[in-house]
Amino acid sequence: MRFSILFLFFLLVSGWCLSQAQPYLDVLRIEAKVSPDSELEAIEGHFSVTLKVNKAVKSVFIDGVDIKIDSTTIKGVNAIKTTEDKIWFTHDFVPGEEYRISFTYSASPKQTLYFVRDQIWTQGQGKYTSHWLPSLDDLTDKIEFDLKITAPKDKTVVANGALINKIEEGDAITWQFDMKNPMSSYLVAFAIGDYSKRTAISATGVPLEMYIATRDTAKLVTTYKHSKEIFDFLENTIGVPYPWQNYKQVPVRDFIYAGMENTTATIFSESFICDSIGFNDQNYINVNAHELAHQWFGNLVTEVASKDHWLHEGFATFYALLAEREIFGEDYYYWKLFQSAEQLKSLSEEGKGEALTNPKASSLTFYEKGAWALHILKEQLGALVFNKAVTTFLEQYSFQNVTVEDFLKVVETISGQPMESFKNDWLLQSSFNSTAALESLTKSSFMREYFEAQALRAVPIDQKIETFYSLLAKGNDYIGQEIIVQLSDEPLAKTLPLYQAAFETNNLYIRQAIAQTLQTVPEALKADYESLLYDASYVTQEAAFYNLWSSFPTSKITYLDKLKGTVGFQSKNIRQLWLLLALVTEGYENDNKKTYLNELLEYATEKHSFQIREIAIRYLLDIQVYTPQLVASLVDASVHHNWRFRNFARAQLKGLKPNPDVQKMLNDMLDSFSLKEQDYLKKEILE
Ligand SMILES: [Zn+2]
Repeated sequence: MRFSILFLFFLLVSGWCLSQAQPYLDVLRIEAKVSPDSELEAIEGHFSVTLKVNKAVKSVFIDGVDIKIDSTTIKGVNAIKTTEDKIWFTHDFVPGEEYRISFTYSASPKQTLYFVRDQIWTQGQGKYTSHWLPSLDDLTDKIEFDLKITAPKDKTVVANGALINKIEEGDAITWQFDMKNPMSSYLVAFAIGDYSKRTAISATGVPLEMYIATRDTAKLVTTYKHSKEIFDFLENTIGVPYPWQNYKQVPVRDFIYAGMENTTATIFSESFICDSIGFNDQNYINVNAHELAHQWFGNLVTEVASKDHWLHEGFATFYALLAEREIFGEDYYYWKLFQSAEQLKSLSEEGKGEALTNPKASSLTFYEKGAWALHILKEQLGALVFNKAVTTFLEQYSFQNVTVEDFLKVVETISGQPMESFKNDWLLQSSFNSTAALESLTKSSFMREYFEAQALRAVPIDQKIETFYSLLAKGNDYIGQEIIVQLSDEPLAKTLPLYQAAFETNNLYIRQAIAQTLQTVPEALKADYESLLYDASYVTQEAAFYNLWSSFPTSKITYLDKLKGTVGFQSKNIRQLWLLLALVTEGYENDNKKTYLNELLEYATEKHSFQIREIAIRYLLDIQVYTPQLVASLVDASVHHNWRFRNFARAQLKGLKPNPDVQKMLNDMLDSFSLKEQDYLKKEILE
């Protein structure tokens, strides 16, 4: 839906914020006190909504999926009727008057609200908040949400807004949150768990609360490294004060996405939790900056419809990249642009390119092509004008819904330049403008050097040895890695001294490229290669450990002893590889093999995150351990809420289907499985 200028003026002065489906309805405020119940995987709530209409109507609805209302508690309207996904209010609604309607309800949500071990958390975008909280599954009506959430005494609750009170009620505590400004319903969220936190204050005085599961407290500082710097940088660069009362970030187990920008309360995947070594390989910086950028792009100004999704994802991706440039430098910035350009170019060359205004575009288009469009626009306008246009756009449309056209009009006004050709080349055109992209990339002297190094792929090894030495000596992460990749295709007799020089650069990422590409370790490089086991990278350590173990059979025990105490990432990548290799190394700690097998079997169970489970399951199937415990873990995983993990488990179960022992185990255990699990097994696996 597009608003005309005149209509928009009316909206501005009257403060109306109207839903698309019911243009006469304005939901002003939703207050709810909810109690989620982990045992029953259900929720109960006391709910009230304040709304207005701008014409006389006999009924209005809000969204609510499978919501059961206690009819004795209804106040404020003549009657309420629920259908599968709606709650209808019947009343003689008079224009301009405010109605406050309240009731108590219960629900057992099939999605959106997740109970995962000792945590409870929500995911609204794409999953519909109305599964647990009556609201509007429509992002064009912005509502002030004030939540009260009841949880057991020993738990911490994180939700939208400022915590203004904690009220003890028997064994539970009700946490009362207050929001000052309105937002779309998909941004409502909470998380409950055993958390510790650290609070920092931004340069402008905004409280930044950083949560972490108490079991991971030792990793809080490394996980949230640079958080305040990112916040201050983005607030300063965007040029509009952070629009909300505070900013909280909370990691949860088995999250469906990398992160979600719920207003003031970003929820992100526990897999980003890292120690100082893990930080070098997979840190939270990008997601941290991306979700924070959404607090302006998406939460403060919100798209009217999916055709405007660039205004959310393209902007969040671009501003995250700017924040990363502050931390990791200019080369990193261009490298990331180059990487996404490569992906977009190949998609485009396959004839699968998509316009940014295509409402059904892929995330590659919305995120990466979206960021590219902004990079180009900023180059074209110059940083000063670009920043002024973005600031003006955000100020003009604060707490409203916006279209791509709205943004372009602001840019035209501020810059005095027509946006027609930018719009055609970057927003409407389905193919990726790789010529313009390449032209922009080569403005970076680093990229020019990288392209020269890449061009050496076609040059015979004898003619490039000297160049390789001088390039390696520069110690650039990306150029160094490119050289290592080129070496991997050449005979070792010619490349050995170059590998030695590469080891000596002491560059973490050049050395990592060796661990990843040189899988059979030559005797002459054994000592250098062994030093990789101590590099500050779990990716390097894991690859080096396996390659050394398989290259030198007589040293297997030495390597196992060296890596014995290392865990690795949150996924326990190194510990799990260690267990696998300990199990299959003949004569190694035979007395402990049963304990090691049990540890790996335990990692496959629902007690652990799906990232840990997936590795354990793969390894156990590799060594053909078909025990009832593993089979039960697979069955549990086959109905997991994370679809990637669920599909992985289903594929493994299908692979085991012809095995009569597995069939027997499944039949013997059938009664112990949930109805959902039994349904799946009967339909797809059992014979
Ligand atoms: Zn995003």
